[in-house]
Order: sequence, then C-alpha cells, then structure tokens
Amino acid sequence: MNHQPPYRQRGDETYKEFEATQLYCPRCRQAVPVRSRLLLVLPHGDQYEYLCAYCGESVGTKIDASAKPQSLIL
Ligand SMILES: [Zn+2]
Repeated sequence: MNHQPPYRQRGDETYKEFEATQLYCPRCRQAVPVRSRLLLVLPHGDQYEYLCAYCGESVGTKIDASAKPQSLIL
C-alpha cells in the first residue's frame, strides 16, 4: 500500500470502467459481455443499464457522470 503512486487511483478507475463490460449474469452463471443501454437521464449523469449479451438479462446499472464533474456528489 505504501508503494501505491498517487496516479494509481486514476488507472483503477479506467480499469473498472473497462471491466464493467464483463459482468456476472445470474442466468448464464458466468461473467458475460454486456451491452449498455441508456436508461435514464439524470441531472448528475446518465444512468445506463447493462444487459447480458447472451440472454438479455439485466445485470446491473451504472451512472455515467462523465459529462459533469463528480466532486460535488462526493
Ligand atoms: Zn445471461
């Protein structure tokens, strides 16, 4: 933990974003590629729904606040 450079956090964020394209689907019982679908447009960001690429099951949602800085929410 001591060796963690300050910019590491930013890299993690990018990685997390990338990893979100593979989510666990309870129906397929495995990590699956997902398709994101715009669900809602919120004042602080757009909410996307992730659907399993195989069976179409909803496997999660995400709020993409990239349009606006997120510092206000935190
Ligand atoms: Zn599935």
